[in-house]
Order: sequence, then C-alpha cells, then structure tokens
Amino acid sequence: MKNKIVSAVITAVLFILTSCAADAPDDSIAGVTGEKKSSGSVFAMDTYMTITAYGKNGEKGIEAAQKEITRLEKLWSVTDENSEIYAIDHSGGTDVEISTETEEILSFATDMHRRTKGALDITLYPVLRAWGFTTGEYRVPDEDEISALLECKGVDMIKVDSGKVSVPENTEIDLGAIAKGCAGDAAAEALKDQGVTSALLDLGGNIQTVGDTKPDGTKWKVGIRDPFGEGSIGTLSVGECAVITSGGYERFFEQDGVIYKHILDPETGRPAESGLASVTIIGNEGRTCDALSTSLYVMGLDDACGYWRENGDFDMILVSDEGGIYVTEGISDSFAPSAGNVTVVKR
Ligand code: AMP
Ligand code: MG
Repeated sequence: MKNKIVSAVITAVLFILTSCAADAPDDSIAGVTGEKKSSGSVFAMDTYMTITAYGKNGEKGIEAAQKEITRLEKLWSVTDENSEIYAIDHSGGTDVEISTETEEILSFATDMHRRTKGALDITLYPVLRAWGFTTGEYRVPDEDEISALLECKGVDMIKVDSGKVSVPENTEIDLGAIAKGCAGDAAAEALKDQGVTSALLDLGGNIQTVGDTKPDGTKWKVGIRDPFGEGSIGTLSVGECAVITSGGYERFFEQDGVIYKHILDPETGRPAESGLASVTIIGNEGRTCDALSTSLYVMGLDDACGYWRENGDFDMILVSDEGGIYVTEGISDSFAPSAGNVTVVKR
C-alpha cells in the first residue's frame, strides 16, 4: 500500500501544579508544613504513572499502591497470555474462571454500557485491531470489514455468574477505557490503608487525589491539557476526587490528509466524530470518571450535557473541535481558564 501513514501517540497528560506555581521547587510543600514527601513511579497499562504521598507512611503507601496497579494490570492486560482478559478473549465461547475484581469490572462495564446507551463498549477490540490502534500498524478498514467485525460486538452477551464468565465466540474484550480509573481507585485505597492521608496519583491523564487538601491546607491544582497543543486550557482546584480526560489527541494517525482518532463510535465502528476534542470528568470514583470521559466523548456536546443533567453526580469540562470550553456549574468557580471562550453549563 502506497499510502503514507503518519502516526503519533501522545500520552495524555494532565499537569499537576504545586501550590505556588508549575515550577515551584519540589520541597515547597514539605518546607511549608514539615511533612515528608515521597514519590514513586510504575509503568503499567501502557502508561508511565507517578505517585506522590505526604507524611510518614508515604513510602509504604506508594509501595502498596504500585503493587495494586501491577496486580490489576496482570489480570486485565489484553496481551499478557496469563491475564484473565486474555483467557476470555481466547476462550472460544467457553466458560472462564475469573477473580472478584474482574467480575466486578465486567458488571460495571456492562452497567455503564446500558447507562450510556452503548457509547461505552468494551467489546470493540476486534474493530480497534482492524484500525491498527492495538498494534500501531494503522490502516483504514473498508466498510464490509467493519460491518463484519461489528457483528462480534456483544456487551449484552457477556454472561457473568459466580466467578465465571462466558462471551460469544469471536467477541473480545478490552478494558482500555476503564482500567486506569479502576487501578487509580485501588491504588488510592491502598495508600489510605497504609495510613496515607494526602497523596496525588498521576496515571497518565488520569489524576486522582487522596485527601481534601495538600499538607499546607490548600486545594490540589490540576492543569487541564489543551487538546490542540502542549499547554493547558486552565487550572482546576479540587479536593479528594478523580479528574480524568479522554481526547482524540492521545492516539491517532493520518492517512490521505484525514486524521483518524482512537475512540470509536460503537455504532459505526469508525472514529467518533462528535465535535468534541476532549472530555474531562471530575467525580468521586476513578472508574466512573474514566468510563464517562470515553463515552461522553463519543456522545458529543449536546448528549453529554443531557447525560450530565440526568445523572448529576459528577462535573465536566468539554472542549469542542472549535476550541470552545464548556464547564458544568458545579466547578465553574474552581476552574481558572488560561485561554478560550468558557460557557457554563447549567442544570
Ligand atoms: P480512554 O483513554 O479512557 O478514553 O480510553 C480509550 C481507549 O478505549 C481506546 O484506546 C480503546 O482501547 C478503547 N475504546 C475506544 N473506543 C471505545 C468505546 N467507544 N468504548 C470503550 N472503549 C473504547
Ligand atoms: Mg476512559
């Protein structure tokens, strides 16, 4: 094939700003409060993750959090032959024994599929593979190929029952849209279990905080990435929560002057063209925020606002393809934009 395929993978990054400025010295917080600061990193789920914890239990907490993340990656990797997801994807329709965590994430994904009217679909893996999003060997599949692969979709046919799961033959699961949010929840719990009361997890575009404030008593400040460039569109002040972003810029390729992005519309099997460039969800639970960032990106501005009005218990920052910024009223006072037109979305 002569087509020139240009590919790019840009890690989704939310910028964590320290209490004073983005480039404040590392010990600025410890200097104010005398709290010890510990940091650690882990590469998992295709992502470089960092954890920062304050206080005397920080190191123990980070170690426990790293273990949790690695453990979940081993359960949910699509490529590790020993993972439970790999076993399901290669089961040929037979029952597979699964852990409680996998059972839980599958029921959660099924529930979110229904709630988002199909916009979140963890059975798109064969279609993602056809586009090359799973391997980096990008190509544009033709309509017949996509239609045939869409026949294998089947969230509603995932049967989970007392430690066992079965999926139809040819149906394959990929938890890429929700696994990092779940891992963040588990890691935050692990930190708390070790007595950590103040910590920040940066799971490559997924930010989760432990504790309502930093040790110096101020709110956490999270920069929201500009989907059109390297900077940020503004800074959000938050307490204990998850701040999770999905955007087409994270993984895409260009062919014949057309850009194809990695979040697919499950109805068409093609990259979602919903008019949104990025979706950031702010809420209590990482897994819900992660599920919603992907699915509200698929829905587009109007349906995303409709979903928010009906379901409520989260906030969001949407950036349209034209650069418009839409912020729900619950966080409009906590968001300091650095550029762009901001519209407050009301109930
Ligand atoms: P996220 O970065 O959380 O938005 O997840 C995006 C990843 O989820 C993609 O790279 C795919 O692996 C997968 N994916 C793409 N489209 C969908 C979709 N509509 N539902 C569920 N997973 C998807
Ligand atoms: Mg997601």
